[in-house]
Amino acid sequence: MNEYRLFIDGEWVAAQSGIIADDLDPATDAVFARVHQAGPEDLEMALAAAYRARESWGATLAREREEILLRAAEVLAARIPEVAEVLRREGGATFGKSMFEASFVVNLLRSAAGECRRIFGATMPSDSPGLVSMTVRRPLGVVAGIAPFNFPFLLATKKVALALAAGNTFVLKPAGTTPVAGLLIAEIFQQAGLPRGVLNVVPGPGARIGEALATDPRVRLVTFTGSTEVGRRIASLAAPLFKKVTLELGGKSPLIVLRDADIPYAVDAACFGIFLHQGQVCMANSRIIVEAPIYAAFCAAFAAKVKTLQVGDPHDPHTIIGPLIQRGQCEVVHGHVQDAVGKGARLLCGGTSEGAFYQPTVLAGVTADMQVYRDESFGPLVSVIEAADAEAALHIANDTSFGLSSALITNDLQLAFDLSLRLEAGMVHVNDSSVYDEPHVPFGGTRNSGMGREGGHWSMEEMTETKWITIQLGKRHFPF
Ligand code: NAD
Repeated sequence: MNEYRLFIDGEWVAAQSGIIADDLDPATDAVFARVHQAGPEDLEMALAAAYRARESWGATLAREREEILLRAAEVLAARIPEVAEVLRREGGATFGKSMFEASFVVNLLRSAAGECRRIFGATMPSDSPGLVSMTVRRPLGVVAGIAPFNFPFLLATKKVALALAAGNTFVLKPAGTTPVAGLLIAEIFQQAGLPRGVLNVVPGPGARIGEALATDPRVRLVTFTGSTEVGRRIASLAAPLFKKVTLELGGKSPLIVLRDADIPYAVDAACFGIFLHQGQVCMANSRIIVEAPIYAAFCAAFAAKVKTLQVGDPHDPHTIIGPLIQRGQCEVVHGHVQDAVGKGARLLCGGTSEGAFYQPTVLAGVTADMQVYRDESFGPLVSVIEAADAEAALHIANDTSFGLSSALITNDLQLAFDLSLRLEAGMVHVNDSSVYDEPHVPFGGTRNSGMGREGGHWSMEEMTETKWITIQLGKRHFPF
């Protein structure tokens, strides 16, 4: 069994805290790895290293950062099966999800490399004769990233790669259940020749290490992906220091299926959009809102497909539903099912569990008084809700405190565009599921789903700050 140390200042170091935690395989409960846990002294070393490295890294040429990011992409491209296996063992990812996640990151690193050369400023006309007035975008210095368990490699690398592209140094705290995914990022960048101190990875307890990152004055931006509750806590800790935050939080994303939809296609989109990674996806379409004329037909076809999904061993390439990250999450999901059924919802399939495996579950007749209507279940549970018409569907879709992703299926593109503008969500996908991402797009949500956008150019804006510089050519006339 592998033992993983902390990655601080370019070295793999034993935790001063002396704590080494078991990293469990959620499918079997077996110990997959042992991982050193950072304490306050370890975090101080990581922050000091990132702070020391910030000037030299911030002064590197765009082509030097680009070269390291491209090399990291090549290193990863040669290690995809190994990374994917870690994602299956410690995260319960299925074979397909693990291969997708690892491969996506190769493109993400290449895309981040391209951003190095696109950090643009502007020149402005001036009211003073002979004054050259311009903006430059400067790196912030030290950026801290706090990552979730569900796409632990992809989401953490997105933060790291774009921060490094912008000339920042980084301290990463991976999720407690998926620390090795974060440590692999350090291995890859070390192999790619990243100078010491530029990236530091410190697994450790969320409340202590995460909150210390949010309050340390050397950290200029906290980029967080995780639950709304923790995001709110981080925002409140960072606010008194006027620290920048980007928050990618939870969701309860709608998929609207309008009456002209092709039902088999809508079923496929709905199924992928909720059951990828057992529903543990922030942008999962956990509320499917179907127009009345096709509601019964959609429910029947959807439940029939969901019953065929293979549940079990995540290493079997045919498995669609693997384990939830922890057994306890099955209780959360089951609580939502019981509450809904108790209030009159119909269970079309699923509703049972074994170990950390929860059967894919569909509820029909879900109404606004049910917990599953409002709260994120973060499991393989979906509500199918009937709407009288397109306006009613839009009203139900917006009847949530979240606003991450959304989707709608119709051939009426005029109506689709009108609804897209009125859906209160950061992202809308027409004729698709709500689950979609690319490296260079503005990913993010509104309301309780967070603030800021991640990806490509939008991350570069978040991760740099604008400085105004003027140069007076010739002499200026001063009034006294
Ligand atoms: P979580 O909020 O429990 O944990 C996220 C990270 O925060 C972990 O690294 C954890 O250790 C750390 N943390 C915990 N308490 C903390 C504290 N008090 N201060 C600072 N850090 C702390 O989330 P999770 O269970 O890992 O992930 C699931 C959640 O993440 C879901 O709500 C999901 O919707 C959301 N998510 C959002 C996106 C997005 O892009 N919007 C993407 C993936 C996941």
